[in-house]
This record gives sequence, structure tokens and C-alpha cells, in this order.
Amino acid sequence: MKVPFLDLQAINARQRDALREAMTRVLDVGWYVHGAEHAAFEREFAAHCGTPECVGVANGLDALTLVLRAWKEQGVLREGDEVIVPANTYIASILAITENRLAPVLVEPDPLTCNLDPVRLVAALTPRTKAILVVHLYGRAADMTRICAFAAQHGLKVLGDVAQAQGAVHAGRPVGAWGDAAGFSFYPGKNLGALGDAGAVTTADPGLALLLRALRNYGSHKKYHNQYQGPNSRLDELQAAILRVKLPLLAADNERRRQIAMRYVHEITCPQVALPAVPAEAESHVWHVFPVRVPDRERFQRHLADHGVETMIHYPIPPHHQPALAMLRESHLPVTEAIHREIISLPLSPVMRETEVAYVIGCVNSFR
Ligand SMILES: *Cc1c(COP(=O)(O)O)cnc(C)c1O
Repeated sequence: MKVPFLDLQAINARQRDALREAMTRVLDVGWYVHGAEHAAFEREFAAHCGTPECVGVANGLDALTLVLRAWKEQGVLREGDEVIVPANTYIASILAITENRLAPVLVEPDPLTCNLDPVRLVAALTPRTKAILVVHLYGRAADMTRICAFAAQHGLKVLGDVAQAQGAVHAGRPVGAWGDAAGFSFYPGKNLGALGDAGAVTTADPGLALLLRALRNYGSHKKYHNQYQGPNSRLDELQAAILRVKLPLLAADNERRRQIAMRYVHEITCPQVALPAVPAEAESHVWHVFPVRVPDRERFQRHLADHGVETMIHYPIPPHHQPALAMLRESHLPVTEAIHREIISLPLSPVMRETEVAYVIGCVNSFR
């Protein structure tokens, strides 16, 4: 048997007719950027997240970058200010900070959740700390109750990176509704994915939303009147129409992801494979990936590949070891480095069949 890591073709084939209808609708209307589909998606996604505002942008990196940029325009952040960010995140979270000439302060994650460890925030705090960029990594909601309480106590802004956790909930509230703003990616492989690049910001702050609507469009509130030196970061009609077709399926897809994750958790018994911790509240994890830790990762990956099971590593190189972030190279981050040495993700997607899940479990359990 062959089990692909993620079969995007099969995921989107389930809604082939509805997607074709949406694309034809855009084609026939003849208005391709910032039209009715985009406006409707912003409304529908805001409602889904329980936030008053949603601002569509071109991708997830822009969503994060533009929120920090907006806070700079508002005078909340200044060049050189420090932003706390988990050290083991995907590099995009950190690039949003450096792009704005702000200083990333890498904080070790809790090794059990792989998310920002609230206990470590105190040690990371300096007089220059102005914000926390919280990542809900692998689809698991970070402990926003404690992180936001800490931020409120110290006057820090909180920006959520929800690129991997669409639909996740913390303490009864969607993660997009926590903090001052949240950035989403709808890259094709995310839990809610477009057929190309797309992103969005959710916030309860109408002033921030208004500023973002200008920043994403050449810094312009009104055509040919430019208030800021903004980029072009627009979400197009085609992607908006596609996302509107896919959003209603997100909750059921996340539920299917949970079922598969729970089968893995209950049936994987190989002593060399450390399983991810399962949160008490099922809805606080949407299992974007299913990461396990295996000391002899290379041999484990080869073993599964030999049996036709495709795996991926999220991520093989920690951000502070990337040439792009050479200034962070000397950081002492043993927890992060151990995660990057051992982590490996098993196949998991809403279109996986029970026979495939059982086959993966059998292959994992036969690893010696
Ligand atoms: C995918 C991802 C991003 C970036 O999203 P793009 O749409 O690819 O720009 C940011 N942060 C995390 C954690 C991601 O996984």
C-alpha cells in the first residue's frame, strides 16, 4: 500500500463541482480583485472566528507582517522593539518581525505541547519588549489564557499566528478571536486551503482593520490617494470564492483529523516513538500535522518509506540555524534543537481511509 503524506487533489476533488461553479461565477462576473466574493469571504470568515473584523490579504506571511507594520504606523511599535516568538516556529513568523526591523526574541517551547511556554515569558521580558507573536503550532491552540494575562500585565500586544490552526478553539473561543489580532494563511496545504496563496487578519479593533485595509492596497483608503507606503497584498476574487466553498467543510474536516489522531495515539505502541500530548479539550487541537518524536529519525523515515508511507519533517532546521537569521545563530535553545532533531510527521488528512490509518499504525509498530 502507498500512503501519501497529504493528497491535495483528493481533498479538493470532494468539492469539484462546487469549486468549478465558484470559479465559473468569478469568470462570468468579470471582476477579479476586491469584489463581491472577497467582501463575502471577509464577512463569513469573521463570523466563523467570532471577530467583528476580517481583512483579506495575499498570504499568511503578509497577514503577520502587515499587523506589525500597522502597529508601527500607529506608534505602538518602533524600530528595534522586541517581539517574543517561539523559537521552534516555522520561519515565516520570525520573518514577519524582521521584515519590520523589529527584534525577534526566541523563547523555548514547552516540550510537551511544542507551543510557547508561558513560564518562560518572564525571563524573556526586557524594557524593549512590546509584543508577543503566539504560534498555534501543528494545529494546537497555545495557552492564550495565560499568555494574554501576562501580556495585559506588561502592556504587550498579542498577535496570533493561526496559519496551522484554522478552527481551533481555546477556552471556548476560536483562536482567531484571542489577542489583539490574528494572522491566517490559506496556503493549499493548511486545514483551510485555497487553490493558491491567500491569507487574512482577524481582529476586534476597527482602527487596526481600517489601517490594514489601506496598507494591503498601496497604503490607499481611496483610489489614487496614498496615505502610506503600502505593498500590494490583496486576496483575489478567485481564491475568495474557493475559500467560501471550502469554509463550511472545515469543522467536519477537523473532526476527521481528530479521529485519525486519536487512533494514532491509542494504537501506536512502538516504544521508540514518542507521541504528541493530547489536550484535555478536543477542540483545542485541529491536528494540522501529527508529529511524533523518534531519536533515530532517519532510520524511522526510511523504514516507513520502504513500506510506502510518506512522512514530512516540520521542521528539519531550527530558524536560528538558518543562514537568513545568522544574527540569532548563537542562541542557546536546547529544547528547540532537540525537537528539530527528532520530530517527524505521519500522514494525516481528512481524506485518509481507515485502512490507510491502520496500515500506517502497523508500519510504525513494526519499527525496531
Ligand atoms: C504556512 C505558515 C505561515 C505562512 O503562510 P503563507 O501563506 O505560506 O505565507 C506562517 N506561519 C506558520 C506557522 C505557517 O505554518
